[in-house]
Amino acid sequence: MAKKIALSACLAGKNCRYNGERKGNPELIEKLEKEGCEIVYFCPEDACFGTPREAMDLTVTPEGVKALTKFSREDRTGPIVEYAEKFFEEHPDIDLFVGKARSPSCGVCTGKLYDEEGNLISEKEAGIMAAEAKARGVEAKDDESLM
Ligand code: SF4
Repeated sequence: MAKKIALSACLAGKNCRYNGERKGNPELIEKLEKEGCEIVYFCPEDACFGTPREAMDLTVTPEGVKALTKFSREDRTGPIVEYAEKFFEEHPDIDLFVGKARSPSCGVCTGKLYDEEGNLISEKEAGIMAAEAKARGVEAKDDESLM
């Protein structure tokens, strides 16, 4: 049976990145299509906040790891978690989650984590939606690890 893959929409060249620019991974899409995979696209940030939008950083706060906008420091974690929960409830049969590397929403093992003073603590974190995939036991990989 074909694998069902959840994939960050920007990897397919959709201009949903925070700055509206395209930065796809056409080789990966071609590889998955050749393998006969069923691909379900997602983009929590575009769905919740529109494009373009202020970029976010994963930040350690007293309430845990949050996605805060880079300059206005608005906490955007809640809507992304809600989007992710709804996505996985609608697609309980996902075999593999593939997230855009380094994204604070979708990166799987490559997200940058900062403290509240803006100091870099780690570059190996899961973004907010990727963390939801992992918490549900869904296998999850960064796009770059599949190439
Ligand atoms: S990395 Fe995730 S949130 Fe960011 S543009 Fe791509 S799909 Fe959307």
